Amino acid sequence: MISNYHTHTKFCKHADALPYDYIAQANKDGCTALGFSDHCPYPHDERDTWSNIRMKEAEAPEYLRLVREAAKDANFPVFAGFECEWHPMYASWYKDVLLEELACDYLIHGPHWVFVDGDFKYAPEIQGAKVIKDYFINLVDAIQSKIFTFVAHPDLIMAFGREWSKDIEDGFTEVINAAYECGIPLEINGLGLSREKIQSGGILRYQYPVDKFWEMAGKKGVKIVCNADAHKPQDVIVLAQKARDYADERGLQYVETLPLVHRLKNT
Ligand SMILES: [Zn+2]
Ligand SMILES: [Zn+2]
Repeated sequence: MISNYHTHTKFCKHADALPYDYIAQANKDGCTALGFSDHCPYPHDERDTWSNIRMKEAEAPEYLRLVREAAKDANFPVFAGFECEWHPMYASWYKDVLLEELACDYLIHGPHWVFVDGDFKYAPEIQGAKVIKDYFINLVDAIQSKIFTFVAHPDLIMAFGREWSKDIEDGFTEVINAAYECGIPLEINGLGLSREKIQSGGILRYQYPVDKFWEMAGKKGVKIVCNADAHKPQDVIVLAQKARDYADERGLQYVETLPLVHRLKNT
């Protein structure tokens, strides 16, 4: 039994293939549920929301249609969703457009950025207590919005070798507490496990997942989900398994099936 709820397609401009290709691979490798969560578009690309790494608004219906069409060849349930950043100004875009109008099945929160001085900054690169604090406030706010089914790579901020600090520990504590209280799972990310390890504070570690974070999450008893974050078909189950191996080696419990429903009647 193995599921994966974090999959990207070539609509986001930095992944390889179409829904059909992932489903063919997952049929071959064995899969119990597959979720597509490509990087979501933003309305009218009104500001620079990193539009070079996500689909355009006009492409979203076609993306969803291709997922639903390819799902007919799957011998497991397939769900169509999006991976989203969080800023309260997009709450209605997520709820009223992506979930209601386009009737996608679920949204996940990938906390890649923080909004600083009118600009979106990449989490692993941010420095300074105030910005780091703002990043965590935004992440906790995303969890508490209850719009998202889970949080992808909640420890992404530690990529590029960031050293553990009090600010980081305090932020992670709040993220874990919020996830626990809201019943929102946190994701162990298989893509991070496939990337080159990095030196940090005198040790060689994964960029993410980060052991100290997952030790804290495990102690709290937060819900955990293990996903691939596949950007190419051959990773779709292989990296989902890698994430499970990471959890198993550390005695972390995880949920295998998320309670998703198809929101379009004919899918
Ligand atoms: Zn991506
Ligand atoms: Zn992703």
